[in-house]
Amino acid sequence: MPPHSTGEHHGLLAETEPYAALWLRWDEGGAAEAVTLPDCPVPPLEADADACCLFSGHPERHTWDVPAYSEEISCTS
Ligand SMILES: [Zn+2]
Repeated sequence: MPPHSTGEHHGLLAETEPYAALWLRWDEGGAAEAVTLPDCPVPPLEADADACCLFSGHPERHTWDVPAYSEEISCTS
């Protein structure tokens, strides 16, 4: 997985709603906040693939486009 291109990081805390989740967002300075973000709306290219686990507007690639994600991230949706 490529390194983050920005100083901002996200970690999934919980699926709180059918189409949104609570994320912990923090930056290099150590400041962190919990934010509710809508789920990524971009469907996978393959119809039978799992939906993207990330939030709407996330940087980098969709989880369905990164095979290693299924091993590194436990997608609760
Ligand atoms: Zn996505």
